[in-house]
Amino acid sequence: MKNLLALNWKMNKTPSEAQAWAQELAAGLTPGEAQLAVMAPAIMLPALAANLPAGVAFGGQDVSAHESGAYTGEISAAMLADVGARYAVVGHSERREYHGETDATVAAKARQAQAHGLTPIVCVGEGLDVREKGQHVPYTLAQLEGSLEGVGPDVVIAYEPVWAIGTGKTATADDAEELALAIREALTVRYGSDAASIQVLYGGSVKPDNIASICAKPNVNGALVGGASLKVADVIGMNDAL
Ligand code: 13P
Repeated sequence: MKNLLALNWKMNKTPSEAQAWAQELAAGLTPGEAQLAVMAPAIMLPALAANLPAGVAFGGQDVSAHESGAYTGEISAAMLADVGARYAVVGHSERREYHGETDATVAAKARQAQAHGLTPIVCVGEGLDVREKGQHVPYTLAQLEGSLEGVGPDVVIAYEPVWAIGTGKTATADDAEELALAIREALTVRYGSDAASIQVLYGGSVKPDNIASICAKPNVNGALVGGASLKVADVIGMNDAL
């Protein structure tokens, strides 16, 4: 299975900066083995559509659980699909923590994304307290089950331990593989043979010098990258390392 290098810009850049970034990437990228996708604030997606190099996908960082209507400030799956998005991140730990998203909300968002042909990137992962109690596997699997309620197999799963996000503390490749394997087994129970083609990503302080060892693990099929996604040079470095 190909690795997916999924870039999560979070709330960074302006649309003009996004355009310049995409043009710089187009000038410097040598297509490699990995699939590349940029998750940007929705307002920047048209600039990405017009300027990303061929073969580089893009998507939203969130999507509404609703089809349309009186939901001020939300972005629907139909809107993302209409500008050419391929993915929508759902259930990022920052959405769960700062916006109170529950597993049920995350599952509703993932179903809505799939209804419009988008592949949801469903994020799960434990906080430091859970990890210190040694409960990270059951905690993360329970979150996964709740977040996949009614969701079909056209998904990507991102395991992002919250303690490793933006902290410079990366889980070891073995930590990532422990959860990726447990997630793969849970996906197999849920989806049968379709689980074998679901990409399971690791996220949390991934950078050019650690991505290769993490993604070399048998059940890790790529990375969801925050901080190191902002500079084109880092992205090219990660792409070349895969
Ligand atoms: P960092 O790569 O900055 O740790 O962020 C990870 C993340 O949250 C990606 O979604």
